[in-house]
Amino acid sequence: MPGPSDAATAAQTTDDLARDAPARSNGVAPPEATTYDPAAFEGLDYYAIDDLLSEEEKAVRDRVRHFVTEEVTPVIGEHAQAATFPRELIPRFGELGLLGPHLPEEYGCGGHSNLVYGLMMQELERGDSGIRSFCSVQGSLVMYPIWRFGTEAQKEAWLPALASAEKIGAFGLTEPDHGSNPAGMKTRARKDGDEYVLDGHKRWATNASAGDVAVVWAKVEDDDGNDQIGGFLVELDRDGVATPRIEDKWSLRAAVTSEIVLDGVRVPAGNRLPGANGLRGPLSCLTQARYGICWGVTGAAMACYDAALQHATNREQFDRPIARFQLMQERLAEMVQEITKAQLLNWRLGTLKDSEEMRPQQVSLAKRNNCQMALEVARSARQVLGGNGVLGMFPVMRHMMNLESVITYEGTHEVHTLVIGQDVTGENAFA
Ligand SMILES: Cc1cc2nc3c(=O)[nH]c(=O)nc-3n(C[C@H](O)[C@H](O)[C@H](O)COP(=O)(O)OP(=O)(O)OC[C@H]3O[C@@H](n4cnc5c(N)ncnc54)[C@H](O)[C@@H]3O)c2cc1C
Repeated sequence: MPGPSDAATAAQTTDDLARDAPARSNGVAPPEATTYDPAAFEGLDYYAIDDLLSEEEKAVRDRVRHFVTEEVTPVIGEHAQAATFPRELIPRFGELGLLGPHLPEEYGCGGHSNLVYGLMMQELERGDSGIRSFCSVQGSLVMYPIWRFGTEAQKEAWLPALASAEKIGAFGLTEPDHGSNPAGMKTRARKDGDEYVLDGHKRWATNASAGDVAVVWAKVEDDDGNDQIGGFLVELDRDGVATPRIEDKWSLRAAVTSEIVLDGVRVPAGNRLPGANGLRGPLSCLTQARYGICWGVTGAAMACYDAALQHATNREQFDRPIARFQLMQERLAEMVQEITKAQLLNWRLGTLKDSEEMRPQQVSLAKRNNCQMALEVARSARQVLGGNGVLGMFPVMRHMMNLESVITYEGTHEVHTLVIGQDVTGENAFA
């Protein structure tokens, strides 16, 4: 979690700029800046998808939309510039039921439908992918495996505290040398009496240096002497755990991303998730989180479209609004078309998930399509904004940079291509 030193660094940068290129005012008032009004956002529903939602689903969606407009958008740009996470919002995630909303209504979890979960993620990522990432990791990558694979004692110990945001969780699967191929992981857990000893190195773990616990995936020898992948709850203040933060990101700047170094870390045997044996364990968590991403990136694209539309109607060139130019209209029409297609994919995916018919390959298709779509919408919206598009007062460049991470994490674009390719041809291109 960022501390005062982050703010100090940002202030130092500002001081350096002021020294190198002092702003001159000479008593002249600065011109009024063009800006974007996130409060004017009314959603984008070209195909009346709202008619497919219940009153309750729309009410929850609107509550999260209001929260994002009122509490996220006013602060997120500054946090992204300073590479800090808006820590003050964390308790609000708990109060608003944004953590584990799709898990059954027990141990403090939400008991909502998957459609509601998706709508929540869409609204959160309209604010920022880092905000949605925080909630996705906590709900789908930490709470879900505890709920699905954990013991009664593990559920009681962790789920209520994670749902209320009293505790923060992280997910350690990726390693420095094993990203797209997690099966090759080197992290190991060795049984020693009634403890496990973990050694290894996880990379890119969202929230780890701000977290209380991580679900760490490691190879462990089973009773037959074969290697299995198992899941372990590792409290992050244990001896032998280091969580250096990954600095220097140009993407997801308002999110904490860390390494998890495990050097002879001892955890009680009761910290192993007994129901998770094999790669299916972490992959089933990723299916949950990827589902949320499909909706989330659609929200980011909706924010970019909204900023582009506002600007196109307000901005005049050649004595007319730029919205009157056919080339600008083509950009906006393309955005509406692609966002609408993504919304329909999401809605159908949600109904399939709610009826327990959704296949992971269908999630791959929506993740692949929607991330690519959102990036293209962001890039096009940036062009509609002209020079203003590179400024922080518009959300577009921030979304665009965030989406470069989102298209990579939880399975890259190429990995999802191969998942679909294998599904339709029966040929495994990973082998
Ligand atoms: C901001 C951020 C947050 C993250 N959060 C988490 C987290 O919380 N927990 C966690 O465990 N991980 C997390 N990740 C890691 C993320 O899931 C990995 O970055 C991702 O899986 C890709 O792995 P890699 O970066 O090692 O890339 P690589 O696997 O090295 O891939 C590099 C390139 O090679 C391509 N490639 C690889 N294999 C193939 C193939 N068979 N065919 C064709 N092309 C291929 C890829 O598509 C990619 O273009 C995060 C990453 C980022 C950037």
